[in-house]
Amino acid sequence: MITASPVGRLSPTTPDWRELWRDAITDVNELLHCVGLGHLADRLPPGDAGFALRVPRGFVARMRPGDPRDPLLLQVLPQLAELDQVPGFVADAVGDLAAREAQGVLHKYHGRALLIASGSCAVNCRYCFRRHFPYGEEIAAAGQWRQALAHLRDDPTISELILSGGDPLALATPKLEELTRGLAALPHVSRLRIHTRLPVVLPERIDPSFLAWLDALPLQKVIVLHANHANEFDEHVDAACATLRQAGATLLNQSVLLRGINDDAGTLAALSERLFSAGVLPYYLHQLDRVQGAAHFEVDDARALALVEAVRGRLPGYLVPRLVREVAGDGSKRPL
Ligand SMILES: *Cc1c(COP(=O)(O)O)cnc(C)c1O
Ligand code: SF4
Repeated sequence: MITASPVGRLSPTTPDWRELWRDAITDVNELLHCVGLGHLADRLPPGDAGFALRVPRGFVARMRPGDPRDPLLLQVLPQLAELDQVPGFVADAVGDLAAREAQGVLHKYHGRALLIASGSCAVNCRYCFRRHFPYGEEIAAAGQWRQALAHLRDDPTISELILSGGDPLALATPKLEELTRGLAALPHVSRLRIHTRLPVVLPERIDPSFLAWLDALPLQKVIVLHANHANEFDEHVDAACATLRQAGATLLNQSVLLRGINDDAGTLAALSERLFSAGVLPYYLHQLDRVQGAAHFEVDDARALALVEAVRGRLPGYLVPRLVREVAGDGSKRPL
């Protein structure tokens, strides 16, 4: 059981995560002023290029003031380049619509079913396929999980349920409890995996009631975080990771290779080292999904391979992420 709070965190004065979620910055000018870059306001696309800006203030606090190339800022700031129409960059880049088997369930790979547990995220990442996915009708929570659970019950080959989204930790803890009550009754499901960026962008989400739920789950637990740069970590993120591990979760990280943000061997190596110091192992380094509006982030395959080889030359093997691409119709992520 979880007894102690991490040092200096989750005290009675820690604001509720939902309050921090609502208080996120959604106005580009406010963001630029917060980081001392107000003069860039006239170089931005109208209407946030069709995908709203959203970033929690705690994440903004980790940006370097006055630096227009800051790797955290570039992940969230709308850019004029998003308006470029680039051949091959499309709305449904990973074939999600084809893989849908029941409301909110994606079953592409053997033994693993992925549930789109929530369509919301605390942060809007500019490179994300979510900028076009029609989540409105696809969220499993909307159907009170019934359809999704019925699908899992009927397929004994599924041993792992992956909660994804959006961000599944956008759901309130009682909602998660409701889902896992149904899951625990399925004898063939032994693992629960959670794909979430919240412990990184809004670590306050990892609060005592969430930890109590996680700790009590009668399943093996894997949490796959999403961080792209070492600067995304601070002492609050470290504390969130430490308590997740205490609650019995194995922590992995997936990153996206992003031009101008982490496409440098030193930056990737520093990320792996920083992850490990937080108790997290690097898992995947994804080649960008070719979504419309994200072409300016792409790194070509030859450079991507060279970067990972350079990281391999510097770090122990367990700190080298697997470079993969998601290809519609494949039976697994495709290694490069
Ligand atoms: C990425 C993904 C998974 C998980 O794949 P792993 O290689 O096990 O990490 C499962 N289902 C879907 C639909 C996915 O896109
Ligand atoms: S799904 Fe992940 S990458 Fe996409 S916007 Fe949400 S947090 Fe960012």
